[in-house]
Amino acid sequence: MIYLDNAGTTKVSKKVKKAMMPYLDKFFGNASSLHSVGQTARTKLDEARAMIAKSINAQPEEIYFTSGGTESDNWAIESACWLGKIKGKNHIITSAFEHHAVLNKLQEMEKAGFEVSYLPVYKNGIVKVSDLKKAITDKTCLVTIMFANNEIGTIQPIAEIGKICRKNNIIFHTDAVQAVGHTPVDVEKMNIDMLSMSAHKFHGPKGVGALYVKKNIPLKNLMHGGAQEKNRRPGTENLAGCMGMAVALADAVKNMERANKKIAKMRDMLFDSLSSIPHSVINGDRTNRLANNFNMCFEGIEGESLLLLLNDAGICASSGSACTSGSLDPSHVLLAIGLPHEVAHGSLRLTLGEDNSVGQIKYTIKQVKKIVEYLRKISPVWDSLEKGDKKHVI
Ligand SMILES: *Cc1c(COP(=O)(O)O)cnc(C)c1O
Repeated sequence: MIYLDNAGTTKVSKKVKKAMMPYLDKFFGNASSLHSVGQTARTKLDEARAMIAKSINAQPEEIYFTSGGTESDNWAIESACWLGKIKGKNHIITSAFEHHAVLNKLQEMEKAGFEVSYLPVYKNGIVKVSDLKKAITDKTCLVTIMFANNEIGTIQPIAEIGKICRKNNIIFHTDAVQAVGHTPVDVEKMNIDMLSMSAHKFHGPKGVGALYVKKNIPLKNLMHGGAQEKNRRPGTENLAGCMGMAVALADAVKNMERANKKIAKMRDMLFDSLSSIPHSVINGDRTNRLANNFNMCFEGIEGESLLLLLNDAGICASSGSACTSGSLDPSHVLLAIGLPHEVAHGSLRLTLGEDNSVGQIKYTIKQVKKIVEYLRKISPVWDSLEKGDKKHVI
């Protein structure tokens, strides 16, 4: 199979797998135990923490291990809201196209009495700093805006947002699950207070992630139990996972420039060839996006049918986020960038990795062209568009 769904998840690299193996047997200790087997585990856990901190220019004590991006997002929001409440603040600013780990948590906060402003993301899929400035009130306790979007890959003006939040004394959290390991991230320079990451999005294992929290920002526990992670996140640490994440991230950061060059070249081949399909549109800014992200809509087709036929041709693709596939609603991200429902249904997301080859991309281009043409031929919607009974929207 040709795997083009790296925003959904990535394969654990050989290097990462090898680095994790000793932690399943040789270093099996519980990092909380006082004996030497436990203390070795503790030392290794701290090594992993330091490696992760270094990759985003944080301090080791600012890294908390979690079960992944979803937990990190929930924890950051819960904590910032709790802090806000203490100060009598109850307003949150976010964007309209966040991951559901943020959007659905914010819905819960709304039920608990918080007010949420959703910044528009426009056709290019990028928030405007001027909109953020206008949305801030003296009740704002949290700004949570993703670093890079998981469906269309567009990169947000994080450093500018950070600057504004710092100036206004508002906590700034960013869901950087798609960004970390794929585009440079510097929490100091960008004035980020809280940042979520997840190992399985950069060739680490699933079920492990981290939340970066700037020193002196208190956290509210999501769970209660043992004293792990400075009393903030109980449960015996997933040492193999933490080490896997650390090695994967260090590797991704080290190879980022070289890998992105190679990946962007293949991604651009896809854009250049497939945008010649009539009545198609590139979703999100063409250049200000992650190197690995391709996302287009083709009018008159169903994205699901395209995916199934691509799968039959040996290509793993996605119509958007893995979390919304299976539901019949079009992607909230594509609606947020202003696509009409009927167009948003015909979306295709291809997210590349270093393992992909130019040959695979050429084959994919051929298959997508063939399948879109076939689906249009058998589509009554396309028929009425072509006859002029209905107007083309794109
Ligand atoms: C994948 C993803 C998440 C969820 O991370 P998990 O580790 O799968 O819980 C959150 N936000 C974004 C932007 C993602 O891409």
